[in-house]
Amino acid sequence: MENNKNLRSWLDAFGLDHPLVIAGPCSAETEEQVLKIAHQLKDTDTTVLRAGIWKPRTRPGNFEGVGALGLKWLQKAKEETGLLTTTEVANANHVDLALKHDVDILWIGARTTVSPFIVQEIAEALKGTDKVVLVKNPVNPDLSLWLGAVERLHTANINNLGVIHRGFSTYEKTKYRNNPEWQIPIDLQTRFPDLPLILDPSHIAGRRDIIFDLCQTALDLNYDGLMVETHFDPDSAWSDAKQQITPETLDQMTVDLRIRKVEDDTVVYNNELNTLRTQIDVIDNKLVEMMGKRMKIADSIGMLKKKNNVAILQNRRWNEILGKMILEGEENELSEEFMLRIYKAIHQESINHQKRIINK
Ligand code: PEP
Ligand code: MN
Repeated sequence: MENNKNLRSWLDAFGLDHPLVIAGPCSAETEEQVLKIAHQLKDTDTTVLRAGIWKPRTRPGNFEGVGALGLKWLQKAKEETGLLTTTEVANANHVDLALKHDVDILWIGARTTVSPFIVQEIAEALKGTDKVVLVKNPVNPDLSLWLGAVERLHTANINNLGVIHRGFSTYEKTKYRNNPEWQIPIDLQTRFPDLPLILDPSHIAGRRDIIFDLCQTALDLNYDGLMVETHFDPDSAWSDAKQQITPETLDQMTVDLRIRKVEDDTVVYNNELNTLRTQIDVIDNKLVEMMGKRMKIADSIGMLKKKNNVAILQNRRWNEILGKMILEGEENELSEEFMLRIYKAIHQESINHQKRIINK
């Protein structure tokens, strides 16, 4: 797939002077619920109403969606409010039903993007249509798999495309429901700057309180839009209750977010600088997190040494690490002097950690 402007012509055609906002409930629950939320979103920055009709649940027993019936509610919501509509499709049958009910934008969910067979099936079902298709990142942090899904659609002549960043699952529990791994969408954006990139802060966060910050980071990284789960009574939502916000909160959020418009050369310069700085911040956070993890392991080694009455400093091991990391540094264009300094500092911090443990 080549990067080209046509990838984003559908988005440019909206003529928005702010990032695209897609909002609406995780799941369509009842006709009243869909219509009420649609009306509340009508006078916000929202262009597209989202609602899951078929819900992929990680474990059975949770609400699995109202099914095709909900498509009629989306149609009615569009009629009454003028909002465009979007829903998740996970097989060819979903595509047929969504097309029949005039859904404007289809999205492919994270659990579907991982499966080339199903993505291919969806691509075939969409052949010859001009639907906009947004591809969520796969659950696992794999850029090729994500791009592969986009390419399958592109090869089937679906040219109105975009991607949604919804985070990646990890075994370790962190403050996120799905780890953002910002580096992955940043790499994707570097390769395909014209492919619209949309943030889904709701599924990254899994909770309300960090949605704003996630959105701000995305806008600083030049994302093209946001897809935010919204419900008039979030706590009573039938799915993903903890992460939904009200339409009023969303409306306020779009006022409070710093949105950088490209107007003149200084603004262009500042935007680029800001984007690069945000990329550095993302990496710095990761560096500190990794160093924290390294020290925790050093602590465990300290405990083991204490139990076995072994000295903290073991010169042979330290020299091995240093030699290996200098070579690794060379491969990454980092000077020997720099690697030495960094590793001496890291090693010293490890020793301090272990001393604390041994003397406890
Ligand atoms: C959703 O958008 O409600 C959803 C199920 O998302 P994901 O595929 O990202 O889990
Ligand atoms: Mn959801």
